[in-house]
This record gives sequence, C-alpha cells and structure tokens, in this order.
Amino acid sequence: MSDTATDENVKVRRIQTAPGIHDILPKDHEYHTFIKKVVRHRARQAGFTRITTPVLEFTEVFKRGVGEHTDVVEKEMYTFEDRSGRSMTLKPEGTAGVIRSYLQHGMGSWPAPVELYYIEPHFRYDRPQKGRYRMFWQFGFEVIGEDDPALDVQMIQMAFKIFEDLGLKDIFELQINNIGTLKSRSQYKEALINYYIGKERSLCEACQDRLHKNPLRLLDCKEEDCSILSELAPKFEAYRSKEDKEHHEKVKEFLEELNIPFKENDRLVRGLDYYTQTVWEFWDKSTGGQNAVGGGGRYDGLVEIMGGTETPAVGFACGIDRLIMHMKQNNLLPPSKDNIHVLVAQLGDLAKKKCLRIIEALRDRGVKTVGSMGKASIKSQLKLANKHQVPYALILGSTEVREGSIIIRDMKKGQQRHVAMDNVVEEIVKLIGEDNLDKYTPGEVSLGSSD
Ligand code: AMP
Repeated sequence: MSDTATDENVKVRRIQTAPGIHDILPKDHEYHTFIKKVVRHRARQAGFTRITTPVLEFTEVFKRGVGEHTDVVEKEMYTFEDRSGRSMTLKPEGTAGVIRSYLQHGMGSWPAPVELYYIEPHFRYDRPQKGRYRMFWQFGFEVIGEDDPALDVQMIQMAFKIFEDLGLKDIFELQINNIGTLKSRSQYKEALINYYIGKERSLCEACQDRLHKNPLRLLDCKEEDCSILSELAPKFEAYRSKEDKEHHEKVKEFLEELNIPFKENDRLVRGLDYYTQTVWEFWDKSTGGQNAVGGGGRYDGLVEIMGGTETPAVGFACGIDRLIMHMKQNNLLPPSKDNIHVLVAQLGDLAKKKCLRIIEALRDRGVKTVGSMGKASIKSQLKLANKHQVPYALILGSTEVREGSIIIRDMKKGQQRHVAMDNVVEEIVKLIGEDNLDKYTPGEVSLGSSD
C-alpha cells in the first residue's frame, strides 16, 4: 500500500515511532519535569551551571572521546554522512561533547574547577528491551580541572542526594573500583591479554573480538563462560601504582566519612575508554549490574585525548528513563501541577467575548483556567468540566452579561450562585486558596552587559 491514499476506501498507513524510540506523553512528563527540577535544584545548590551540547556532532568527537574500540562507537552509534559528505553522529553519551565544548570555548581559562551539568537525550543503537532504548534521557555532572579524590566522592554524593529526593535512595547500591592511570592500566592490559591467550575458544564472540582491542571489557561480560573465566583473571590490585592506591584509599575514606555504603568490585571497568582511577556504578539492589541506573568515574586523560593540555576531570551520568521506571515500580508519584482549577463555560457570542477577558484575568492571578470556547450546550460544557476534574465552573450566558454577573458552580456539590462579574476573580481565589494558586514568576530581567 502506498503512503498516499488516492481512493477513499484505502486506509493510509499510520506512521509509528522507530523501535526503541518513544514519545513522552503528558503523564510521563510529570516524572521528567520532577526529575529535571530535582537535578537543577541540586546542581544550583552546588554551583554547577548548565550546558547543552549539540545533539549532532562530528563523529570524530566520539571516536576520539569515547574510544574507537568501545561497543558504543563500534556498534551503537547513529552515524551518517551529511549532504557535504561529513561523518556526523547523534550523541551517544554526554562527556565527549562537553570536553569538546570546554576546549572550543577556552573554558580552561575559567576559574577551576569548571563545574557543568546537562539534561539531554542520547542515542544508541542498542537492542531495545525493558529499560533499554535507542533514544534515552540522561542527566550528567562534570567537574573539570581538579584531581582530588574528594571530588570523586562529591559526585557520588550528588547522585545519592538526587536519588533521595526522588524517593529512591535505598534502592541503589554503589559499586566502586579503581582502574588506575592510563600508564598502570597498560601493564595490566598486557597481563590480561596473556591470561586469555589460549582460552579464546571459551570466550563469546564479542569478547574474542575485544581481547586485543579492549581487554578490560572482558572482565564485565555477562556471558556465563566469560564470567567464569574473568573470575580467575589477574586482578588489577597487583598492578595499582602507589598513586592509584592512595587515590583509592582516600575515596573509600571520604565515602565512609559521608556514611555512603559501597561495595568494591574489581571487575567493574565501565564501557568507555576514557576512565582513569575511580569508576563506579549505581546498581539496582535487587537485579544487580544488568541495568545500572547510572555510573561515572574520573577521566584524567580525556582533555588531552581531545586535543587539550593534561587536565584532570571527573563526572557521572544517570538514565532518566530508568529512574522513572524505578519510581513507577515503587509506586512513587511525582507531584502533579497540571490540575485545573476552573473551567469557564459560555453561551452565545457576547458571553464568549466577555469570557476572553475573564480567562486572562484568572490566569494572570494564578488560577489555572481552561475556557470552553466551542458551540456546545451548557450541559456538555459541564461534562467537560467533570472530565478535567475541575472543582469549579464559571457559567456566562447572555442574561448574566446583561446583568454584569456570572455563575460560580461548585462541581462536587452541584450547587451554584451568582456573583458580580467584577468580583469573580477574587471570589474564585477565596475558594481555591491563595496558597494553591500557580504563582510562578520567571524572575525579573535586569539590565547589564550580555557577556
Ligand atoms: P553509561 O554511560 O553507558 O553507563 O550510561 C549511563 C546511564 O544511562 C545508564 O546507567 C543508564 O541508566 C542510562 N542508559 C544507558 N544506555 C541506555 C539505554 N540504551 N536506554 C536507557 N537508558 C540507558
């Protein structure tokens, strides 16, 4: 069947979203809005400022930033040529773009550390399943320009504060590891390759491929045979330098100081190449590492890999879709502010005209108001009021317009009375209660230099 129907009887095929990509419908937006609000609030409290990098970047940003031999770059990126033949990619993660932006805009000259956060959609050609999508939302925090282990712990603390605000604090456990500097890790990588040589046939296909490109990833493969082999693999502990050990001990000491429980996991390596020293993930206590809700780590080498000078950094990202999934599983509802206070019903052209001003005055005062502007009967307009579950309806007909009055109907009690049109806004405010008004003001603009 063609997309355009020429015959009235031919049904036009409805277009759906692509697999793993979904709409955010109004009910789910209540979760999104709440999570964003919590993130923005916690970020502001700690002096982080928001950054948005483009959804589309040169592929090079991620090839270099995430690592050419990572699963994300090799298998999961949405990459295509633009009309000028340049290779472009929809961003699969946030950090590489932030560092590209840090260098492009000379943020190295800003007071250090530079503390940024983002809330954005990301794209990975993953196998869609529960909690795993091809377009998903993440928020993330990055601290660029300091290498103190206290910052690693502050990042972890920030995530737990956000989980706590969402009612999810006790659901997740912190898994941490130290994977050393790029230098100490290179000796360990060699030891791993030596261990696995001769055992290739017991490895899954993906791990056989990873062995020489990214041997660390063999440690956290979930395939049964790979998992058994990785238990007996050399441990990084023996390869940690003095500096790595000190860093790791400090991280643990600070976590204890903040009463943040953690589990050490020497097979936790994270999927991306850029991590150094501390890495961590937040696991669902009941299901483990299969669907982590977030993770992060230190990435002291990334600024240099992206073309800058050696600059330490640390950050983490959490999946918003997965947080929403956990909130739903635990019957946690976000506060809803979408409830409507008043529906204004009208009958006749003159009444409709008057209503326009009344609706404006109500909204300006903070009363959440919908106007019923069609030509329906009062009865069906009141049905609409019930559908919106509004506590009050205002009814204006030509008699009321002539008399300068309006009817207030209490929808629950089914009672109604006339009030003077000039007093209607304050009468409604009295009924709703000053505290329940939607009095959000965007803040005042001020004059100043825009830079
Ligand atoms: P990562 O950097 O891959 O560890 O991703 C950080 C977090 O983003 C994960 O812990 C998930 O919560 C979320 N995430 C990553 N990939 C997906 C996906 N395909 N679908 C939904 N959420 C995802």
